[in-house]
Amino acid sequence: MLTIAVSKGRIYDDALPLLAEANIIPIDDPKTSRKLILRTNHDNVQLVIIRATDVPTFVEYGAADLGIAGKDVLIEHDSDNLYEPLDLKIACCKLMTAAPKGAPNISGRVRVATKYIKTAERYFASQGIQAEIIKLYGAMELAPLVGLADCIVDVVDTGNTLRANGLEPRELIMDISSRLVVNKASMKMKHSIIQPLIDQFEKTLAER
Ligand code: AMP
Repeated sequence: MLTIAVSKGRIYDDALPLLAEANIIPIDDPKTSRKLILRTNHDNVQLVIIRATDVPTFVEYGAADLGIAGKDVLIEHDSDNLYEPLDLKIACCKLMTAAPKGAPNISGRVRVATKYIKTAERYFASQGIQAEIIKLYGAMELAPLVGLADCIVDVVDTGNTLRANGLEPRELIMDISSRLVVNKASMKMKHSIIQPLIDQFEKTLAER
């Protein structure tokens, strides 16, 4: 059995055509099904639908052989126990700081709300800025509006979410795209199925 971990939503939607090119087609649709394990057109290939932040954990511990995860999540997960053979160039966005529109830059200690604690700490340290990082699990945009933080660190695509909440993008921390990750033991034990899959993904990406 080959198990592939994917998160619902944008990454899943963008991964479907890549998987289809490799002739992996889910039978169930996560939009209409509550199943967490999706069967595919192959009896020996299944998808597990989990939270984006859990994808590296599932793959690291071998609960999934492969996973598709955003670079934002992988950097925050911060593990050497995963192979990351391929940038799939899907679900592209930017990891940025954002602050209330027109607000001046804070000169002293800055309070930052984010779910990307390690990445934010590293970024502000690299800029020589003292930062107090406040961990949130969602709705980061709210934090500056209610006085919980001066700014946020979050992924931005169109910027509509920021604008709708009176915020504006400020500094680019890094460009983000989704990566293929592989469990180290699976890479050895299931090499004959995993390597052709990686090759096919590479071929599809080269043709895009
Ligand atoms: P936008 O309003 O288009 O800038 O989208 C921003 C919101 O969508 C953010 O709050 C993110 O949580 C989410 N988002 C956008 N792109 C991605 C992505 N590639 N991966 C994960 N979340 C994303």
